[in-house]
Amino acid sequence: MAEQNDIEKVIIIGSGPAGHAAAVYAARADLSPLMFEGFMAGGVAAGGQLTTTTEVENYPGFPAGISGPELMDQMREQSVRFGTRIKTETADSVDLSKRPFTVTVGSSTYTAETLIVATGATARRLGLAGEDKYWQRGMSACAVCDGALPIFRNKPLVVIGGGDSACEEASYLAKFGSTVTLLVRRDVLRASKAMQKRVFDNPKIEVMWNTNALEVLGDGKLLNQVRVKNNKTGEEQVLDAGGLFYAIGHEPNTAFLEGQLATDEAGYVITEGKTTATTVPGVFACGDVQDKVYRQAITAAGTGCMAALEAERFLADRE
Ligand code: FAD
Ligand code: NDP
Repeated sequence: MAEQNDIEKVIIIGSGPAGHAAAVYAARADLSPLMFEGFMAGGVAAGGQLTTTTEVENYPGFPAGISGPELMDQMREQSVRFGTRIKTETADSVDLSKRPFTVTVGSSTYTAETLIVATGATARRLGLAGEDKYWQRGMSACAVCDGALPIFRNKPLVVIGGGDSACEEASYLAKFGSTVTLLVRRDVLRASKAMQKRVFDNPKIEVMWNTNALEVLGDGKLLNQVRVKNNKTGEEQVLDAGGLFYAIGHEPNTAFLEGQLATDEAGYVITEGKTTATTVPGVFACGDVQDKVYRQAITAAGTGCMAALEAERFLADRE
């Protein structure tokens, strides 16, 4: 028989900056939150996407920068310090049809008056030959996060993708690299006209149409070339590249919700106006799972704070 636990005031699912900011605020409000931090959920360690990166240089409060894993260890410590209880388990499913809500984790069932969904998103990767060797050694899935690093300065850079992210990232990288080559698999960009214009108007950006990347090459330490193929002519060539950035979309980690919260066509949880309220009263969503535009640690933490404050108000209104 499934193990049944007491009714919690707040359960937080997910353990990136959004989940931990929510935990700190909820714990300091005496809500004694219970967090499921996940066990390699979505292929990412507890602590979220920042555990997969090296230096974080744009999170305020760390003028010398801080390593991603260390930043997340500190956030976890802060959550625990104020009384958050953390379980290193992945939420398998939820039942949001009535309150208290139910969260199922293995053979255990947990109930809560409010639920904060902070499960993040996973950047898609291509799994190119050589990717395992050069990931984070010249390869990244976040130009805004990594583009300003010294290893990319004045180097030829390559971006893969044809959407708004790819155009935005190519434009951003053009400030740092000597040139930027945008590899687009079709002969059109999916991006909005405004974003396309930014790319076409930038003399440092060249678009290679109908082109797929095949392999990354390097000196053993850092990537320095990308082998590409024109999918119309079959012609292959090797491009010099000091950096390769994927911008081929993200997968929000929402499968466990089984459609119980409204999402947009790409699967991101829809939140109401300038709040973290979802389509189910008492369920709040924060961080990358509901944000396909900004996708930064600071914005995730900001919405995590909002979710906790909104959960607290929701509970107070029902007392
Ligand atoms: P995430 O960080 O994605 O964390 C969500 C967590 O929830 C994960 O640990 C996941 O395993 C867990 N989870 C998922 N499903 C479940 C489940 N069912 N049950 C329990 N747990 C679950 N941003 C910056 O501001 N600066 C940077 O320098 C920077 N560098 C980056 C470098 C890389 C390589 C990447 C990929 C991203 C980077 N970002 C950076 C973006 C930043 O990491 C994200 O915007 C931020 O981590 C989003 O936080 P989040 O809390 O929404 O979710
Ligand atoms: P999208 O899903 O819009 O675009 C992904 C791009 O990657 C597409 O061009 C797609 O090609 C390409 N792609 C996918 N898989 C592969 C592959 N295996 N090989 C090569 N190319 C591939 O994702 P985005 O992250 O760009 O945008 C997500 C959402 O966020 C969109 O709604 C976008 O408008 C929004 N956004 C808005 C911004 C803004 O307004 N400032 C900034 C960033 C995002 P194809 O076109 O052939 O399918």
